[in-house]
Amino acid sequence: MSGYHHLFIPGPTNVPEPVRQAMNIPMEDMRAPDFGAFILPLLEDLKTAFRTETGRVFVYPSSGTGMWEAAISNTLSPGDKVLMSRFGQFSHLWVDMAQRLGLDVQVFEVEWGRGVPVEDYARVLAADTGHKIRAVMATHNETATGVSSDIRALRAALDQTGHPAMLFVDGVSSVGSIPFEMDAWGVDCAVSGSQKGFMLPAGLGILAVSEKALAAAKSSTMARCYFSFDDMIATNATGYFPYTPATQLLRGLRVSLDMLIAEGLENVWARHTRLAEGARAAVAAWEGCELVARGPEWHSDTVSAIYAPEGVDAAAVIRTAYERYQTSLGTGLARLAGKAFRIGHLGSLNPVMLCGALSAVEMALRDNGARITPGAGVAAAQEHFRATAPGKATAPGKAA
Ligand SMILES: *Cc1c(COP(=O)(O)O)cnc(C)c1O
Repeated sequence: MSGYHHLFIPGPTNVPEPVRQAMNIPMEDMRAPDFGAFILPLLEDLKTAFRTETGRVFVYPSSGTGMWEAAISNTLSPGDKVLMSRFGQFSHLWVDMAQRLGLDVQVFEVEWGRGVPVEDYARVLAADTGHKIRAVMATHNETATGVSSDIRALRAALDQTGHPAMLFVDGVSSVGSIPFEMDAWGVDCAVSGSQKGFMLPAGLGILAVSEKALAAAKSSTMARCYFSFDDMIATNATGYFPYTPATQLLRGLRVSLDMLIAEGLENVWARHTRLAEGARAAVAAWEGCELVARGPEWHSDTVSAIYAPEGVDAAAVIRTAYERYQTSLGTGLARLAGKAFRIGHLGSLNPVMLCGALSAVEMALRDNGARITPGAGVAAAQEHFRATAPGKATAPGKAA
């Protein structure tokens, strides 16, 4: 095979060349006298990605799932009551973990394709006048269904009822890609990982915690060791870790974070919106295809989950794209297996790259019996990208 294999799964995402080069270095001494001077500003600058000034950020050798566990085990106690909602494979796994760690979980079951049911949370919080609920948990961007939820509204529900519960948010596929405002939304534990918006390989769990969550850690009684905040705080104070850190990933993180900060988070968010709108324009042009997300209010700007047309096996589409067209698409997870495929459009990405993926999808769809018009989706995306091209409005003397 010549050329690149095209990676359009919603994580791991494409790693930019400067980030890869920054990681291609000899092993280094993680106790070297100058290592702390590298780590301290890195931990500080990570706050920018979460939009927090008052919180602190922990980085663990872990995947994102570990940060669910770090958040829960450090701040809660067995039997604590928490509110959660389930509307896709990731929110499902988080509920499963909370239950297995011994929390008393009240789960709102939501149709896959919709997201956080703010009214349900609000109703139960208002009824909880004794303030038994210790934490409210929500998946910001459900990567399995391509659904984003309104965390600001969930914060408002807590504020309106004057409820003191902590707010935990899974931002694994949103932080660093779409608006995430830790301080403004009053998020107490913000869970993320390295291989999505941070454009790195998997291997770093990134968790931002508020002062309130740190205070809760003082009285929480859940067993914890590897993920203990206390051990991290003690060693992070001078820029070191309680065990061997993933030094190369941290070198890569320095560069990817610098890239996000140099582009400007608002510009990063706008870029993801533009890409997502192009993908959605393509889906609208593919006869018989439909987003899993049940309406524009749920549209995710980092991943689109798409139902294949009636009678077309989505798993076969994904396989064909991989085998014939060197393109990896996201699979339909759990109950979406065989029904839907996903296009990840987050991270290090531009419109022409995405048009390549859309082209592969069209060929694979047609190979598997979909009666879509060749090029229709790509054309729709192209027109969107032309209309929204930066500098278009000011380019002098250029006809549209
Ligand atoms: C990817 C993802 C996870 C799991 O992260 P891992 O790094 O695979 O452990 C959790 N939640 C969401 C929303 C995700 O997209």
